Amino acid sequence: MCVSDAEADAVSDGYVYDPESLSAEQCTGDACAVCHTRWPRPRTALGVLPDGMPVFGCGDCAELVGAGSPVAADTRVFAAR
Ligand SMILES: [Zn+2]
Repeated sequence: MCVSDAEADAVSDGYVYDPESLSAEQCTGDACAVCHTRWPRPRTALGVLPDGMPVFGCGDCAELVGAGSPVAADTRVFAAR
């Protein structure tokens, strides 16, 4: 039996990313975890890896996944017209 225990401490920073689904650049914070953009260097922590290392994303993607600056659920980020 192999039961993976969820580490409560690791999830305190948010979403825990599966390193298997990320590239080496994304795991080391050199590329956005969502869109792979390397420049400008992603600076917003989107979540963490199982080992506690932060995963970074660019500002646009941080907004999309709800990290970084909090945006109310009913706030429209872009004007409809
Ligand atoms: Zn991005």
